[in-house]
Amino acid sequence: MSCRNCEINPVIKLPNSNIYQCKKCFNRYFEKKVRKTIRIYKLLDKKDVIGVAASGGKDSMSTLYILSKILEPQKTKIIALAIDEGIESYRDLTFLKNFCKKNKIKLHTFSYKKEFNKTLDTMLKITKEKPCSICGVFRRYLLNTKAKQLGVTKLATGHNLDDEAQTILMNQFRRNISASARLGPITGTISDERFVRRIKPLYFLTEREVAVFAIINGLKDDYNECPNAAASYRCNIRDMLNDLEAKYPGTKHSIVNSFIEIQPMLRQFFNKKQIKTCKYCSEPCSQEVCQACKLANKLNLLD
Ligand code: SF4
Ligand code: ZN
Repeated sequence: MSCRNCEINPVIKLPNSNIYQCKKCFNRYFEKKVRKTIRIYKLLDKKDVIGVAASGGKDSMSTLYILSKILEPQKTKIIALAIDEGIESYRDLTFLKNFCKKNKIKLHTFSYKKEFNKTLDTMLKITKEKPCSICGVFRRYLLNTKAKQLGVTKLATGHNLDDEAQTILMNQFRRNISASARLGPITGTISDERFVRRIKPLYFLTEREVAVFAIINGLKDDYNECPNAAASYRCNIRDMLNDLEAKYPGTKHSIVNSFIEIQPMLRQFFNKKQIKTCKYCSEPCSQEVCQACKLANKLNLLD
């Protein structure tokens, strides 16, 4: 087997095809797919200040790398925002810090310990809430509030096609369709300055494609998984989808592509619901009090 174009050793077989590509051809294919997603879904505007939600993992490192490459010629400002949840022997931002330093990208780090008075590990000792439920609510809250304070107009995340297929199914299985209205390559049901819109440049690339891209470009040095991940609902859905994909190749692409077809209707339908403002923190929410304030109150974090 060799690269279809160059006839040298391949680094990957593209999904749902018999096409093999070498490093150079795959890098070109990857960038082309990102550029197409940006163009078709209008992810970027000339006046944007881009914040990349970076964790040091393969997805966010690939996002940071490819966006800084694409945005460099047009001089669009790009910064990185990292969240340190406080998970022992997992969250290590050293690689990310070195990358940002080397590439002159300003990195802003926010920790649960400083913002909520406790690390995630400590919070888990005082509650029976699921780790990812706490972690996800606080991460979304911090990214939105801090991005606004930093003047970020679009927040780029490293979500790939596998992540999106999992989330679509999770929302379906949990009868949470209104949450699906907020998915897609660019999020937000309405243009509302309380939200920093999120963009997903890797939306149409699979987990495997992103992993290969990160490896061949030296964007990841280790692959440890969060100790809380195995018990998560997402992890079960991920395994189920991987099984299905192995038996029926193309399943993940079909889930995402059919979702994209119906999503405009979902957005139209759920747009009619008014978004409220949290009476404690003024962040946007669906009820009187946002999830982060409810959780902080429940865990006595703000005393
Ligand atoms: Fe947080 Fe769960 Fe992700 Fe771990 S797996 S970082 S607990 S959301
Ligand atoms: Zn609130």
